[in-house]
Formats: sequence, C-alpha cells, structure tokens
Amino acid sequence: MSIATTNPATGQVLKTYGAMSDEQVDEAIERTELAHRQLLGTTIEQRGRWLTAAAELLEAERDDIARVMTTEMGKTLAAAKAEVSKCASACRFYAGHAAEFLADVPADAAAVSATRAFVRYQPIGPVLAVMPWNFPLWQVMRFAAPALMAGNTGLLKHASNVPQTALLLEDLFRRAGFPEGAFTTLLVGSEAVEKILRDSRVRAATLTGSEPAGRSIAQIAGRELKKTVLELGGSDPFVVMPSADVELAAEVATTARCQNNGQSCIAAKRFIVHADVYEAFAEAFAHRMSALRVGDPTDDTTDVGPLATERGRDEVDAQVRDAVDKGATVLCGGEKPSGAGWFYPPTVVTDLTPGMRMWTEEVFGPVAGLYRVSSYAEAIEVANGTAFGLGSNAWTRDPQEQERFATDLLAGAVFINGMTTSYPELPFGGVKNSGYGRELSAQGMHEFCNVKTVWIG
Ligand code: NDP
Repeated sequence: MSIATTNPATGQVLKTYGAMSDEQVDEAIERTELAHRQLLGTTIEQRGRWLTAAAELLEAERDDIARVMTTEMGKTLAAAKAEVSKCASACRFYAGHAAEFLADVPADAAAVSATRAFVRYQPIGPVLAVMPWNFPLWQVMRFAAPALMAGNTGLLKHASNVPQTALLLEDLFRRAGFPEGAFTTLLVGSEAVEKILRDSRVRAATLTGSEPAGRSIAQIAGRELKKTVLELGGSDPFVVMPSADVELAAEVATTARCQNNGQSCIAAKRFIVHADVYEAFAEAFAHRMSALRVGDPTDDTTDVGPLATERGRDEVDAQVRDAVDKGATVLCGGEKPSGAGWFYPPTVVTDLTPGMRMWTEEVFGPVAGLYRVSSYAEAIEVANGTAFGLGSNAWTRDPQEQERFATDLLAGAVFINGMTTSYPELPFGGVKNSGYGRELSAQGMHEFCNVKTVWIG
C-alpha cells in the first residue's frame, strides 16, 4: 500500500509520501535510543509537565486535528473531535497517575529474609508501535502516554493511509517539550517492520490491527525474544436477555455497531437475543439502524461516514453477499451504493448459520449479525463460539445473571447494561485470537516496564 492521504468520502488521492530510506530509519532509531537515555535523567514530574502540555495542545488544536483525521479515514467530524478530547484526557490521566503507578511496591522483607525488599518499575527503552487507521490518534495515544511517562520512547509505524495524522503526532510531542527523538514517526510500509523489530536498539513492540499482522509481529519478536502487546480484531457479542430494557438496548446497540462508521475492534458485532424479546428487539434495532443518516462525514447531521478504504468496503460487502447467498435474511441495508466514496448502509442480517463468513469472521463496517437463542446457556455458547475474545456486552436486570455473564463470557472485558468502551482507568485488551497484553490503566503502563525485584540483606 502506498503512503498517501486519500479522502474516503470522494476516493480522491490528496497527498502522497515517499517511504523513508533504510538510512533515515537507522538515524531515527539512533535518535530514539539517545532520547531514551535522556529521558532516564528526567523526573516523572518533568515528563508529566510535557504530557500536560501535549494535552493543552490537543485541546487548543482539536478542530484542526479532527479535520485531518476525517479527511484521511472518514470518521464523522463530531467523532474525530471527541477522539482528540479523549486523547487529551488520557494525557492528563497518565501525567497525574504515573507517580502512583511507578512507585516502588514494598514486599514482606522478613518472609524473604531481607531487611528491605520491593518491586521497582523501570523503562525498557525504545518501543515500536504499529498502529491502525481506525482511531488514528487514540490508538497511538493509549500507547504513547503511558510509555513516555514511564521513560520509554516510541517509534510509530502508522497505517499507510493516515500519514498526516502520524506526522502530526510526532510534531505534537516535540512541541510539548519532549526531547528530540522521544517520539518518532517512521513513514514506512509494513514490509519495513521486520528489520526495525530486529534492530537490537528496539526493545519491544505493540500492535493494534488485524490477526495476520499480529501473527507476523509476534513471530519476529518471538525469534528476537522481545516482548509484544497485541490488540487484534474482535467480533464482540451483545447479549439481550428477557429482563433487559429492550428499547435502551436497541438504542445502544445501534451506536455500538455504527460508531466510527462500524470500524471499531470493540464494536458490538453479533447481537444475541433471547426469543422472549427477539421480535421487539429486532424491530426496534432495524428501525434505528435504517434511520441513521449516511453521508458526508464533515456534515453535522451525518451519523455514518464512508468506510476508510475501498478494500475494506469490498470485504464487508463480500461478507454480506456470502451470507445472503447461503440463506441469510437482510432486515435493512445490505446493498453497496454506487457513486463516489466508500459508503455502506447500516445493515442488519439474520438467519445466520455456521457455514457463513459472518458467523466466524469480524465484520469491519456497519453490519450487524442478529441471532435468536432460547436460553442463557445457548446465549453463552453463541457468544463464546468464535476465535475472538476482545470485548463483550450483556443486557439483563437480573443480578444473578449479571454475575454469571461477568464470569462466563470469554473476553478481555464484560460490560453489562452499557456500551463497551475504553477508559484510561481500566485495562484494555483481549484473549484468544484478539491478542494478549493490556493497554491503559496501571497494567498498560507496566507492560513496557522492567518489573525489577530489589532485595537488600
Ligand atoms: P492491518 O492489520 O493490515 O493494519 C494495521 C497496521 O499494521 C498498519 O500500520 C499496517 O501497515 C500494519 N501491518 C499490516 N500488515 C503487517 C505485517 N505483516 N507486518 C507488520 N505490520 C503490518 O489492518 P487493515 O487496515 O488492513 O485492516 C484489515 C482488518 O484488520 C480489518 O478489516 C479489521 O478486521 C482488522 N483491524 C482491526 C483493528 C483493531 O482496532 N483491532 C484496526 C484495523 C484493522 P500498512 O498500513 O502499511 O499496511
């Protein structure tokens, strides 16, 4: 894929970039290594001041940054502004909490025959971040904010379709005051990643993206004995039980499926509804989905903009066609529109069966799969019946059922009676083929720390 800004609402290529040469990449890695040594000589308070300055810049420049994101990947301007604000909050969160998260943790000295024993968190060095286009600022920030506060440095290989957002991020941290090289954008294609990851100066890697990309990074990092955090795809279940507030569930389901034009790893994708409330939910959900306005993402009245790439839209359409050809029923949407831009209508598909692609694959667009189940046990079986395990969602007012869902759903997160989302305060990540490791919270910060045992006799 060439490195370029292409407006998904029109299909027009607006700006192209040449990939950095091997020499330029080498120099950038050298600078990031030097910056790491520089950061080792700074205090948490100093790094906190820089990260707070980054938050202030994000807040002051929110609308301009949002417009760049919307132009590059098609999310609505309103969603882009909210993303910038969320990034500013994450910077403030880590600036404010790093001292607590990085504080020495005392151990029972007597039990280990010491006069003093404790755990100390120390940075490990330059970390490579391979990031996707869907939340082009947030996905990077949730790695960068804790990493920089811990004293690590970041090398960003962003998705090839968001180069302007990638460059803007490097500029942001530089202007906030971080040393030259503390956060560097490498304009390179995915074929350049292996060499960078093999470089001995690069200590670890984090990737958010598809399963194949995750497997590739993990394989290379495994051979190099480098730690990785992988946040891959998801096909999150959204279970609605008889005691649920069905109207509210249908409203949240619509937002959960179509936020970010349907391109979120933790979007609810499979709607698993108990037979007692199936008809009511299906009607309310299809009604709300078809009422969404699809169009120009810069227009305030638009709910759903275009998909980010033509390939992505073709893939979504192929998944729907596959289901329909094998007997599924489309309750709304389901037709790829003609004309400029990579739009796809909010779609609800039911009567899905195991042989269909939608049964097992992640659908990265505003397309919902609707499943009817007749018991709690069946709901869990369908919910857990994929190779993914990122987020999950259950709707029930029965306290015992809430407890059971919290335990039985095989996922990195369970949200009950509310939309699955990410918060800086809570860990974020998956199980099974959705990846491993955690971002955000103290856990996210500790992933790229040397958790050092100190024993003093
Ligand atoms: P990719 O996984 O291909 O891209 C994500 C990032 O990984 C990009 O920076 C990409 O670079 C890079 N990359 C891709 N392949 C490799 C590789 N072999 N080695 C190293 N880096 C690599 O996602 P796509 O954009 O192609 O989307 C495909 C599907 O992935 C989606 O339909 C969705 O299912 C899933 N996805 C999930 C996301 C999530 O949030 N979990 C986000 C995005 C996608 P480059 O752009 O240069 O190819």
